[in-house]
Amino acid sequence: MIYTITLNPTIDRLLYLEGELTKEKNNRLERVKYDLGGKGHHGSYAMSKLGVENQALGFCGTTNKRKLEKILEEKGINYDLVEVYGKPTRESYVILEKDVSGSTLITERGYAVSSYDKSLLFEKIEEKVEAKDMVLIAGSMPPGFEIEDLEKLIKLLNKIGCFVACDLSGEALKAAVKTGVNFIKPNRFEMLEIAEQGKSLLDTVKELTKTIDYVIVSQGGSGSLCGHKNEFYQITPPVVVVKNDTGAGDCFVGSFLASLTQQKTFVEALTMATACSASKVQHEDSTSFSVKDAQNLQKKVILEKL
Ligand code: ATP
Ligand code: MG
Repeated sequence: MIYTITLNPTIDRLLYLEGELTKEKNNRLERVKYDLGGKGHHGSYAMSKLGVENQALGFCGTTNKRKLEKILEEKGINYDLVEVYGKPTRESYVILEKDVSGSTLITERGYAVSSYDKSLLFEKIEEKVEAKDMVLIAGSMPPGFEIEDLEKLIKLLNKIGCFVACDLSGEALKAAVKTGVNFIKPNRFEMLEIAEQGKSLLDTVKELTKTIDYVIVSQGGSGSLCGHKNEFYQITPPVVVVKNDTGAGDCFVGSFLASLTQQKTFVEALTMATACSASKVQHEDSTSFSVKDAQNLQKKVILEKL
């Protein structure tokens, strides 16, 4: 079983404007769509879409609980969330202007979690997760969830003996590397934050693979630099028409981990994840991709052994 943990979930409210966003004008909406914003939820979506059993864990506010649950259900995601009483799950606003590429993102910080909320999450994890499982911790941490809490969470998972994957950044990523995990996938900017100054990206990956089973640095449209044991690869995706690259990394992580649990080799998991995320960037929202397109794109992924 794969569990994903989203500590700071978000409901994305996609605002499609009739025209360009203009000050001192009534900017009318053409339509509004809701989507998942949490990175762990995005990962769960990719796993479910590939037919791999998983469950989304983490927090959710009670005051708009049904709203989040409805989106999770519509997207076919199995979940078991810890309720943060009397608070709403944060909502983000994604402004999409007519005939303008890219989007404007406005996010809330999210509610603060209490010691009680955190203890409920730890209890749930202890109760559910077994040594044969895989756990993905992804996304930012809500106010009240400190680096020490993250370290405590990783230590608990290490004690259980499961595979621990992280999609974190900044201090949280540093703490995860220090505490000990099995998988990380920073993008190149997140990697620069933890890399030793002056060290090349490849040498940094080589160094990290001494303690981490799988180290992948994603580089947007240029692909990724990947290391596992003594195998290192530069992967290049096929050229595609990009509509929205938000969530490409989450799709990559979800499909890579899903492939690993399907007993695929490192190379097969890498090419599949690269193909799924290349399909994802051709979609408007942050999660959608086509498995059929991905299977075709996988044949066009370029793999260079380093
Ligand atoms: P996010 O956090 O928004 O999910 P990220 O910054 O973590 O994204 P990226 O490095 O942008 O992740 O992308 C992850 C992977 O998705 C890349 O390694 C690549 O395989 C694929 N990808 C991203 N952008 C493109 C693109 N323009 N064309 C094809 N593949 C892409
Ligand atoms: Mg990312």
